[in-house]
Amino acid sequence: MAQPPLQPVRGTRDLIGEDFRRHQAVIDTARRISALYGFEEWATPVFEDTRVFARGLGDTSDVVMKEMYTFTDRGGDSITLRPEMTAGVCRALVSNGLAQQALPRKVFYAGPMFRYERPQKGRYRQFHQIGIEVLGSAEPLADAEVIACGWHILQALGVSDGTVLEINTLGDAPSRAAYRAALVAYFSAHRDRLSPDSQTRLERNPLRILDSKDEGDRRLIADAPTIHDYLTPEAAAFYAAVKRHLDRFGVPYRDNPRIVRGLDYYNHTAFEFVTDRLGAQGTVMAGGRYDGLVEEMGGPPTPSVGWAAGVERLSLLLPRAPEAPRPVAVVPVGEAAEGPALDLLQSLRRAGIVAEIAYRGNLKRRMERANRIHARAALILGEDELAQGVVQLRDLDAGTQESVKLDEVIGRLA
Ligand code: ATP
Ligand code: MG
Repeated sequence: MAQPPLQPVRGTRDLIGEDFRRHQAVIDTARRISALYGFEEWATPVFEDTRVFARGLGDTSDVVMKEMYTFTDRGGDSITLRPEMTAGVCRALVSNGLAQQALPRKVFYAGPMFRYERPQKGRYRQFHQIGIEVLGSAEPLADAEVIACGWHILQALGVSDGTVLEINTLGDAPSRAAYRAALVAYFSAHRDRLSPDSQTRLERNPLRILDSKDEGDRRLIADAPTIHDYLTPEAAAFYAAVKRHLDRFGVPYRDNPRIVRGLDYYNHTAFEFVTDRLGAQGTVMAGGRYDGLVEEMGGPPTPSVGWAAGVERLSLLLPRAPEAPRPVAVVPVGEAAEGPALDLLQSLRRAGIVAEIAYRGNLKRRMERANRIHARAALILGEDELAQGVVQLRDLDAGTQESVKLDEVIGRLA
């Protein structure tokens, strides 16, 4: 029987043409802006020891409990395709002995992530994130700078209109313990109305219920206590300082006491940049402070803060796709012109001008191809031109043509 035709695996996508250009524009812009803030780019492996992501039994997030691509490799080791990169960056800080060196360290990254989720618009099984981390600072200014850099990137991409920063604090350990007790009391009183998942969360990590997407849960969550009544004076002061710095950086924000993060290692600041333009997949950038994670990787106490953003979601929001560069087509006419045409082709490319040549064909076919590749100009080189040391420069938009000296043509096109 005939095999069905091969398709990309469910939840994965090919990036071709305009899709790739949008994707790359997001990454290039984030790379450029984060460099202005002193972030250096790191690349860590796409797969890691499973323990990098599943640390002990403590993590109750959906990502760790349900979404990881975990397998045993041929050597018998448990391997996980990274679902996010913060854990890998912290692992790398420790593995490379950098946690003992001068901190903070400011890291930017971009790359593919993998989560076994139900695919829909803006939600894939292989998706891409950009992100930044400040490793080794407990100062609220670090939180504010990380957020300001994210806002700057959204502005540079032209997607900041319609995007708002929602911010919350998860407090310090004593604040959280008090808040946790209040949440347990509240949700226990409504236990039978919670989704089965959230009943499990009630025992293991009641804060996680606040992140539930279940409709019934969301109704209960609306009336749940907020952490603000349980903050210690220190935690409240930290949060106030973050907001003061955000004001100074000119970053608008809105308090949202329901924000917890998708992963369990966060404390103090938690934030999301959300848009109303992507339906249910409205969070484009999300992050917070994670003071315990580097220690969980076996490093010294290293308070840190960062965010990650979904490249696919930002690509969807980009107001317009970047144009592909328009080439210049070199068109030899007759055999004698073929060699000199190749010389001209390479000198254009070495001068930084995008240039193409058809591999074969007469003048008519080559001009057709020049139009098909959307060339901005054709450089036509025949025997007469060779003899005179010139080339015919045809502007393919205007339809005009003129004779230009060979040694002046690069200057004209640059
Ligand atoms: P969500 O609530 O949408 O599932 P999350 O809390 O799981 O998000 P994070 O782990 O904080 O997401 O990841 C940061 C960002 O990465 C998200 O805000 C989103 O833009 C993007 N992202 C997360 N999961 C996916 C996915 N499966 N496909 C595409 N983008 C994603
Ligand atoms: Mg998720």
